[in-house]
Amino acid sequence: MPNISPAGAVRVAVTVDDFVLWDGLPMPDGITPLVITKSLAATLADHGLTGIYGFSHTHRLEADPGLMAAWESWIEAGHHLGNHTHLHAPLRWMSGDQYCADIDKAEGLIGSLIELAPERYFRYAMDMVGETETKHGQVEDHIRASGYQNAPITAWFSDFAWIVPYYRAVVSGDQDAQRMLQETYISSAIEQLAAHAELARKLFGQDIPLIWLIHGTTIAMDTLGAILDAFTERGVEFISLREAMTHPANFGMAPCNSEFLRNHLQRYAMAAGIPEPHLDPQLFGQVMTAAPLDGYDSVPVYEEGMLKPLAQRAGATYDWTW
Ligand SMILES: [Zn+2]
Repeated sequence: MPNISPAGAVRVAVTVDDFVLWDGLPMPDGITPLVITKSLAATLADHGLTGIYGFSHTHRLEADPGLMAAWESWIEAGHHLGNHTHLHAPLRWMSGDQYCADIDKAEGLIGSLIELAPERYFRYAMDMVGETETKHGQVEDHIRASGYQNAPITAWFSDFAWIVPYYRAVVSGDQDAQRMLQETYISSAIEQLAAHAELARKLFGQDIPLIWLIHGTTIAMDTLGAILDAFTERGVEFISLREAMTHPANFGMAPCNSEFLRNHLQRYAMAAGIPEPHLDPQLFGQVMTAAPLDGYDSVPVYEEGMLKPLAQRAGATYDWTW
C-alpha cells in the first residue's frame, strides 16, 4: 500500500461539516440528520478519534428545532462543535455586515454547545473567504472579537458530488451503482488526500498537518470506517485540530479569490501559480450521472433544491459555477 506521502507519515486532523445537511437535498427513507450524526460520531470514536470538531450550519433549526438533537448527540459522543454560520452562504453572496450577523445568529442558536469545546473555532461556509481582502478582513475582525479562530480546510475530495447520485442508487435499489459510488468515494478520498499532501509539499517544502473535511451524508455514514482504515494503512497519523492549527499554513491567510469551491490550500496554490488538485472531470461525470432516476438529475437537484434557494435567502444574485 503506497503511503499518502513518500516522505513519511502525514498528520491529519479530521473535521466533519454539515451533519445536518443542506436544506433541499433528498435523503432515503429512514435516514435523518440524527441517524447520520450518531453513526459518524460513533465510527470516529470506534477508530480512537474523539474530540473531533463538527461544523454544521444552523438554518434548518428554524423550521425544525428538534434537529438540535443532532448537535447534542455529537457532543454526547465525545466530540466538539464550532460555528459554521447560520445560512451557509458563500461570503461573496453577502455583505460583510450580513455575514457577521449570520455568524452571530448561529452563535445564538448553538453557542451554549460551542462553549463546551476547549477551543472556539469558526469555519467559513464552503471555506469561501470572500472576494476581497477588505470584506474578508471585516469578517476576520468579527470572528476574533467573538473569540473564534478560523479553522480552514486544507484537504477535501468534492464529496458533495456523491450525495444525489447515492440517493438515487439507494432508493432505486441499484446495488451495482451503490458499490461503484462507494468505491469511487473511498478511492477519491485517498487520492485527493495524497494530492493535497503533494501540493502542500510543493508550496511549503515539506508535509504539513492537513485539516481534512468530510460532510455528514448517507454515503459518508456507509464508508467512513473504510476511509479511516485506508488512511491508517497509508501512513496517516491522526491529530487534533488544535495541533494542526499550530502550523502557519493553517493559521495564516491565503490570498482571496472569487472562485467557487476552492479551499484554503488551493487558494495558496492559485496565488503561487501552481495547479490545484481537483477531482478528475471524467470521474466527476461518472458519479454525477450514476443510477439515473426520473426527476432527480444531479445538477437540477443541487441547483434548484439547494443552491438557488440559498442565494435567495442570502439576498444574492445566483452566479454559481461548477
Ligand atoms: Zn459547510
